[in-house]
Amino acid sequence: MEFDARTAAADAALCGDLWRGDGGWALLTELCDRCHGRFAGTADERRAADMLLERFRRIGLQHVHEEPFTYPGWRRAAAPTLRLVDGGQEIATFSLPGSPSARIEGDLVDLGCATDDDLSRAGQDLTGKLALISAATPPRAKAMHRDEKIARAARRGAIGVLWMRDAPGQLAETGGLFFHDAPPIPGLAVTREDGLRLARQLAQGQTIRLAAVTHDAPQEMTSWNLVGELPGSELADEVVLIGAHYDGHDIAEAALDNGSGVAAVVEAARGLAQQRGALRRTVRFIAFGVEELGLYGAYAYAAAHQAEFGNLRLLFNLDTIAEPGATKGVATQRRPELRAALEAIGQAMGEPFPIDDHLSMYSDQFPFVLKGAPAAVLTNPDAPRTGGRGVGHTTADTVDKVHRLSLKLSALFSARLALYVANAPEWPAQRWSDGQTRQELETAGVRATLEMEGIWPWPSSSTNC
Ligand SMILES: [Zn+2]
Repeated sequence: MEFDARTAAADAALCGDLWRGDGGWALLTELCDRCHGRFAGTADERRAADMLLERFRRIGLQHVHEEPFTYPGWRRAAAPTLRLVDGGQEIATFSLPGSPSARIEGDLVDLGCATDDDLSRAGQDLTGKLALISAATPPRAKAMHRDEKIARAARRGAIGVLWMRDAPGQLAETGGLFFHDAPPIPGLAVTREDGLRLARQLAQGQTIRLAAVTHDAPQEMTSWNLVGELPGSELADEVVLIGAHYDGHDIAEAALDNGSGVAAVVEAARGLAQQRGALRRTVRFIAFGVEELGLYGAYAYAAAHQAEFGNLRLLFNLDTIAEPGATKGVATQRRPELRAALEAIGQAMGEPFPIDDHLSMYSDQFPFVLKGAPAAVLTNPDAPRTGGRGVGHTTADTVDKVHRLSLKLSALFSARLALYVANAPEWPAQRWSDGQTRQELETAGVRATLEMEGIWPWPSSSTNC
């Protein structure tokens, strides 16, 4: 694939501009300092939305607007109490978003990582029990999301879950809960250190009886996707989307997850706005709402705009993109037909980048994949998969953890990629048909999980897990 001289000139200008710019650092710090975690349903979230819309306008995007949507929200009440009934001793905790108000008391059972083996070891009937579950993935086991693990306990009668982080450092990890067809039970975050101590005592044969009271309240809420664009000069109906979620968790500054992503998207938009005359296709920028509680903003956008997906060339998502490491690359979501085009873009950039086609279900690209749209995420496919989320979802996800050069390189890479996709002479990815989408997801082995979460769009088989 060949690119014209106008594209090369715009790329050179982008490189100069974004390399010399601050890479979104100022916006990142402003978002985190003024709007804290931007948790869905808070005044911080709305303040962040206003800040981003103002920024979209200031850098010269067109058709800047917000798209409201409703979602099952959740309001955090005062911290729950969690105590050992016999000792009266308290264990520090907080509720996972989605937890209901409840008063529970029961014996603790160690459910390990909630794998099939763990479940048979612990006994299938957990009625009246609290389950201690680790966020870890055991060696060689398939990674299971928090929701799947906690739903497995809830479905077997557990009345509450202690959710143990998989890394040392006296940090507990938050994350939204979705119960679908499992009874909603409180999820209580505990540190790895506290969790390991409880597990050790259980292994020694001690009985541990715990009592907890939570006061949190699920309730319907409204949020907003924030949209702005640079119309293409020749093929304005054809669209390249770049998005990142702007919400985060309330216990954190949510700097890596995902202040970094949204700051990089806005910085990429700033750079591309300077080159708007060189764009053949339209480039649209989206700050998604409410990713952390279940990708609700992206689901709302994909549902409202699916009729346009025949003209969607690529949705490119940025989520947690500023950890140390200069290598930037692309994971297309099961789009091997894009490899040659992306390699040609790497050649044209003078900077070949790693590519794979690994599907990931837990960020805003996934609702687009479910509608058959070509999607990709910014990542380094060559980096070893650690399985952990670092300090993400903990109180330690603060601005100082964001690697400033990595943030800048993410913004630059994303802007350049968008430019080349917008200007490619032809683009090999088409929207999948409904049948093809289903086939791709079945081949990817995600059907059982999606059925469990209630988001498999086709008729379900009866039971799983
Ligand atoms: Zn995220």
